[in-house]
Amino acid sequence: MMGDFRLRILSWSMSALNRKPSTRNVKMSLRTRLIFTHIFVIFFTLTILAVSLVFILRDYQRQVQLSRLGDAVVPLAFQARAMFLNDVSPREALSRLQQQAGSVGSLLILTDKGLVLADAQYNLTNRTINFNVPARADATRGFVWGSHPLRVGRTLLFAAVAAGQVGGQTVYIALANIERPFFDVLDEIGASLALAGGVTLIISLLVALLLARSIARPLMQLTQATEAIARGQYDHRVQAKGGDEIGRLAASFNSMASQVQGARQMEKDFVANVSHELKTPLTSIQGFAQAILDGAIPDLAGAHAAAQTIFAETTRMGRLIGDLLTLARIESGQMPMARDPIDLCELLPRWVERLQPRARAINAALITTLEPLPPLIGDANRLEQVVTNLVDNAIKYNRAGGTITVAATSETTPSVTRSSVLARRKLVAAPPQSWVVISVADTGEGIPPADLPRLFERFYRGDKARVAGGTGLGLAIAKEIVTAHGGTLQAESVVGCGSTFKVRLPTKTENP
Ligand code: ADP
Repeated sequence: MMGDFRLRILSWSMSALNRKPSTRNVKMSLRTRLIFTHIFVIFFTLTILAVSLVFILRDYQRQVQLSRLGDAVVPLAFQARAMFLNDVSPREALSRLQQQAGSVGSLLILTDKGLVLADAQYNLTNRTINFNVPARADATRGFVWGSHPLRVGRTLLFAAVAAGQVGGQTVYIALANIERPFFDVLDEIGASLALAGGVTLIISLLVALLLARSIARPLMQLTQATEAIARGQYDHRVQAKGGDEIGRLAASFNSMASQVQGARQMEKDFVANVSHELKTPLTSIQGFAQAILDGAIPDLAGAHAAAQTIFAETTRMGRLIGDLLTLARIESGQMPMARDPIDLCELLPRWVERLQPRARAINAALITTLEPLPPLIGDANRLEQVVTNLVDNAIKYNRAGGTITVAATSETTPSVTRSSVLARRKLVAAPPQSWVVISVADTGEGIPPADLPRLFERFYRGDKARVAGGTGLGLAIAKEIVTAHGGTLQAESVVGCGSTFKVRLPTKTENP
């Protein structure tokens, strides 16, 4: 029987050990948590306030009671002193004076050690009560006071004044009263306290509700907006009100959403452009190949022309795909830029010289001007690609007999004092930066101001370029390469006079 019971206990404890912790995950909303926190704080504060108030009131009440007793006992002490001088016994003195004490309290005569010599009401004669004269002396009020527990819940409170000597001992006359019990005070003010507490609690609760709503609502809107963006509604925005944390969060969210929207749009445009750019030559190739297959081109000269078109289109496609791959590689960081020292004074004339035949073809003058340059660190092949693209464009979009000027100069940005977030908003002086500037200027038709900001977009082509068959990727690639070197690429142009493209590269940059 006993063994059976033990077995049951053992199996119960085993199953208790194996039981998994409750998986019910109570998820409280932020709003509920804020309200609960408020209620807890308010309740806690009110409780502390009420308890302190009760103790303060109790103390105040004791002081009031003692003052009444003290005020009444002081004149009685003078009379008692006279009686003791005339050898009146304490008992006799007490019965003569009690009348005068009236309803204020009951008289006691006691020694400075607390031995009661005479007592009018509490049967304390010949007993010693708590009376520690020096500790309880109240010099400002002219009496000393004491308290003595009578029985549970009843304490005798008394004010005493020295009244002379009896039998060689210092004797005090005291006026005593039962102290009002602590709970009486509570009874008296408890209801008002509870009412005040209740009203405060309700008002604070309303404030807490409003506050929690004002905090939780924008967060709720942000959550909904995030979900909308995740569903693909990229134009969804939230109201960004105020400069507080939530307002700033909403503003950052909106700016992030705009960027995502922009990126998605760019992605869409990119795919549409690529498809279009590949489809046009493919259609042409397919058409000519079909014509050859169908025997629609009878003679050799016609077949030759068709093959030439197919070759040109495939070359163009190859160039386009090559450019796209280059762009994708630079963007994904798969095309590491070399960091070699570059002597531009030696390399730049060589790069430009290779394009002289093309310039000559349109009767244009291709000039290079150089000045002593500070050392440059970077990828010579990639920078050649940039320069070639810029000079190639300058020839392509120049007028016949025009001029292309390639110049390399050095430039120093003066030291600037700016506030740095990293330096905890202290003002820091950025060291002066020196740059090498390669500029390619032409005397072509120029670029309309409205087109200037779009030049570096992928597939952007001016009207003339569409005819010339450019891919619209050259400047986008050039910009990526220059940016990867820590530099900038900018275009200036005056319609009718020509354009200038400026590549600014930082010198001695070990970390392009
Ligand atoms: P592509 O030359 O293959 O069209 P780019 O990216 O090199 O592509 O140039 C983009 C567009 O910028 C060109 O189509 C052209 O309209 C314009 N552009 C570039 N360079 C010049 C220039 N030097 N003068 C006038 N327009 C230019």
